[in-house]
Amino acid sequence: MESSYTNKLMQIGRGNIFLVGMMGSGKTTIGRSLASYTGKTFIDSDHEIQERTGVKIPVIFEIEGEAGFRKRETEVLQELVKMNNIVLATGGGAILSEDNRELLKLHGTVVYLRAAVNDLQRRTRHDKNRPLLQTKNLHKKLTQLFVERDEFYREAAHLIIDSGSQGIRNLVNRLAQQLVAYKKKNEMMQTITVDLVNSPEQRSYPIHIGHNLLDQVDLILPHLSQKRVAIISNTTVAPLYLDKLREGLQRHGITSVPIILPDGESYKNWETMNQIFDALLTHRCERNTTIIALGGGVVGDLTGFAAASFLRGVPFIQIPTTLLAQVDSSVGGKTGINHPQGKNMIGAFYQPKLVLADSSTLNTLPDREFRAGIAEIIKYGLIRDLNFFAWLEQNMTQLLAKEPVVLQEAIRRSCEMKAEIVAADEKESGVRALLNLGHTFGHAIENGMGYGVWLHGEAVAAGIIMAAELSRRLNLINEADVLRIRKIFVDTGLPVVAPDFSADKYLDLMSLDKKVSAGKIRFILLNRIGEASLFSDIPIDALNNTIAACTHE
Ligand code: NAD
Ligand code: MG
Repeated sequence: MESSYTNKLMQIGRGNIFLVGMMGSGKTTIGRSLASYTGKTFIDSDHEIQERTGVKIPVIFEIEGEAGFRKRETEVLQELVKMNNIVLATGGGAILSEDNRELLKLHGTVVYLRAAVNDLQRRTRHDKNRPLLQTKNLHKKLTQLFVERDEFYREAAHLIIDSGSQGIRNLVNRLAQQLVAYKKKNEMMQTITVDLVNSPEQRSYPIHIGHNLLDQVDLILPHLSQKRVAIISNTTVAPLYLDKLREGLQRHGITSVPIILPDGESYKNWETMNQIFDALLTHRCERNTTIIALGGGVVGDLTGFAAASFLRGVPFIQIPTTLLAQVDSSVGGKTGINHPQGKNMIGAFYQPKLVLADSSTLNTLPDREFRAGIAEIIKYGLIRDLNFFAWLEQNMTQLLAKEPVVLQEAIRRSCEMKAEIVAADEKESGVRALLNLGHTFGHAIENGMGYGVWLHGEAVAAGIIMAAELSRRLNLINEADVLRIRKIFVDTGLPVVAPDFSADKYLDLMSLDKKVSAGKIRFILLNRIGEASLFSDIPIDALNNTIAACTHE
């Protein structure tokens, strides 16, 4: 095994591996062997619990009952999963709790070691340390537990492997192979190039999209011009991902200055900008110190603008961690902050050196934020690509479940379309305006409700329904198209009915829109699903009727 050790270690990566399965399925033996094979640290959760309580598990069961033990087990698991590069053998009943199942899935690759009841019996019959198995009819008890638990093990697992009766060495080899294959399938990185050769900047930069890219710091290194970077993040994202990024950079001899901002759109302002400048100056960051944005669109917009103006422009890298940031705000070079008199009023066009979209960071994103991001993905299909729209209709369930292959494809195609549009029209004089489908109505909803009440993506969803309805009233698309559009947003769990403001209020709010030209409100409308254009001179009746129709069920 020695010879292939380094090779396998590299291919499997530094992620955690969690073994689940029945007592006697071989979690400890196989886990220990897998750990030495892959250079990871082996930990047995039952063992940890005994260490911490100072007594054997049967004693815990006796004193505190099974419930008491399970509680201790969950606490220990919550700590252990935060470690890096471990193989963890979990107790046979750990997966009975849904919280534990989700916890394990989130922090590593879960492997179910599945064994037949006869094998389990052979391996456990002399074991006195397993309270649940101290029974006359061991076979019956094991069968009962197996029937109860098999579905939970399956649910928790990314991979299932039959541990059967073959030798350990064989099994570990097979398991390692499957882990490598699994990792490859999920992490296939894709790269899109944003081509700005026709713009004054005359350069291009890559967007890498994939699972667990934060572990692959070597993707960042070629874009650095100094062995030091500043990383800007916020109080929500930093505890989740900052250490991982900093440690990865450190392993390659790159030191980093973390700058942690308060979380929220309300901090996207001058005060926070100054905080960033203060920190950059205090730490003596220089012309060639790269600034990395680690967070959602707020962190990205702030960081980009800081990079554009600090020392008249320093290199910057985007690591977007929300779906919206990965498919929209990190691509295209718009950066900026809000002014009390309006959103995004102060800013600059400034392009990053690199965008690194790690889709696995979306596992910690609140569900509502995730769905809101999908609104912009659907938008790309509607304005430019019928096939992509149809693909989204078919794959929405998998997308909502964050199935890595589907998720990455949705991000890739969205970035690709935004990159194409931006390349054609970096400063938004023409085609880039199409990205605003649903946004004229959407901004009115966000503003009218008070910013933050509806998420941007939610307002865009209801806004797109309004744009579709207006398109139908102007005979551009038909009723069936509108229903089809409505259905995909309903399937996504996004709102399709706009807030019940009067038509006058909507018109008032919309006249503040940046697309207003010479006092006329302009709309992006659909010629068909997959094609949009900019329209002005909309008959006021059509507009009023659309608003009336879309603000009620
Ligand atoms: P956000 O940055 O506020 O992030 C939403 C929330 O999710 C925040 O609380 C954030 O801390 C948290 N979060 C981020 N990543 C997380 C993760 N992986 N796990 C858990 N929590 C996480 O909001 P957003 O939707 O990403 O971006 C909205 C901003 O983007 C707005 O300010 C908008 O103006 C801007 N925007 C800019 C462009 C552009 O072209 N520059 C385009 C669209 C939107
Ligand atoms: Mg938008």
